[in-house]
Amino acid sequence: MTKKEVLERIQQLKKERNAIILAHNYQLPEVQDVADYIGDSLGLSQTAAAAEAQVIVFCGVHFMAETASILAPQKTVILPEIGAGCPMADMITASELVEWKKNYPGRKVVCYVNTTAEVKAECDICCTSSNAVRVVNSVDEEEILFVPDKNLAAYIARKTNKKIIAWDGYCYIHNKILPKDIRERKALYPQAEVWAHPECRPEVIDLADKVLSTGKMVKEASETSKKEVIIATEAGIIYRLKKENPNKNFYPAKDLALCSNMKKINLRKVLTSLEKMIYKIEVPQEIGQRARGAIEKMVKI
Ligand code: SF4
Repeated sequence: MTKKEVLERIQQLKKERNAIILAHNYQLPEVQDVADYIGDSLGLSQTAAAAEAQVIVFCGVHFMAETASILAPQKTVILPEIGAGCPMADMITASELVEWKKNYPGRKVVCYVNTTAEVKAECDICCTSSNAVRVVNSVDEEEILFVPDKNLAAYIARKTNKKIIAWDGYCYIHNKILPKDIRERKALYPQAEVWAHPECRPEVIDLADKVLSTGKMVKEASETSKKEVIIATEAGIIYRLKKENPNKNFYPAKDLALCSNMKKINLRKVLTSLEKMIYKIEVPQEIGQRARGAIEKMVKI
């Protein structure tokens, strides 16, 4: 099958199945190009819930498809590659969280959206990288447990007076971006601004002009008067930033900051997922309801 034939077949199956394709900002260019919507994990899940389509082909990693299924339980959510997981989300299990909480009786738990449904179900409130500070400030207690990302927790701790007790998790991609990478890029592009994702190490955050979630990077890229920006996050987002802003230059802080899980889905797998309706992601009702509670509390804020 040629690429053109694959694309035609995907369009045909989308109509037959009443499906839409959602792609995360870190997906391969060919997947972003075929998607109806591109965005961050929560934005895509909310799009899934609001869409008229009955089938959601979610091109991202497992916890994202789960979140879409939690918010749209009446729809069929499909992840084209069942092995596309998030190593950071897998750094804490629900039973580990339950045990950890016993050390801090009465403390509220804030979870990053990058967690499994089972972990969300054990938390009080969920957050994203763009609303994490607001969510933490909304909790009455002065001491808060935060899972799973210690880097995001460190960023929040700088922005709030609350004491954050963090799980020792991290995103291996953001964690491998080092201050020397930023300095080397700045030497190459001295006029460029540096934008860092809050999952980066605190030492990298210190060198950033702006700290932004991927959603805010996309928005800021179209609004900034800067012509050159060094981007400290997963490098897959560069494709979208360049495509939407052809008159500006975006440089990855590190060329190899590529998440192999995010690259497991390709055009062929999108086609196969629509042909065979695989892999369906379903969250057990009781877990889904509790996890949804944590997400809905965040949305209210
Ligand atoms: S980039 Fe990091 S947070 Fe995102 S899916 Fe990969 S490991 Fe998980």
